[in-house]
Amino acid sequence: MNSEKEYHEILKKEYAGTVTTLERYINPRAVILHHCSQCEQEFYAKPMWLVGKDSQRHVCNMPYGDNNGVRIPYVYSKVSHNKRTRRTLSESVKKQIVELGKQGISIKQIAKQLNIADGSVSYHLKKAGLG
Ligand SMILES: [Zn+2]
Repeated sequence: MNSEKEYHEILKKEYAGTVTTLERYINPRAVILHHCSQCEQEFYAKPMWLVGKDSQRHVCNMPYGDNNGVRIPYVYSKVSHNKRTRRTLSESVKKQIVELGKQGISIKQIAKQLNIADGSVSYHLKKAGLG
């Protein structure tokens, strides 16, 4: 598994084409971002794990990790990302919303900048009397 091409071929065989890479393959031990079309999950993993032992392979909707408890620091997925945007905003984020609102920045731009929902931005601006 010395080249990206070779890795892609093995991945295709092992996962029937559902798991693809979103970043350039570097080497078997270098963590890169993958995507699974079956569970719509994006996750970081070492190529040698994904095509290695059963316990280290990608399992749909499961956080990535192996039986020894070796786990990469975080699993990025669209699901958890959505959860994050719905979280209760911290005081500092609320302050930032108000500050940006005072500068005349649009709700959409604030939402994008702080990675939160448009609705929460407008809610907090209104609360601060800026809406
Ligand atoms: Zn999957």
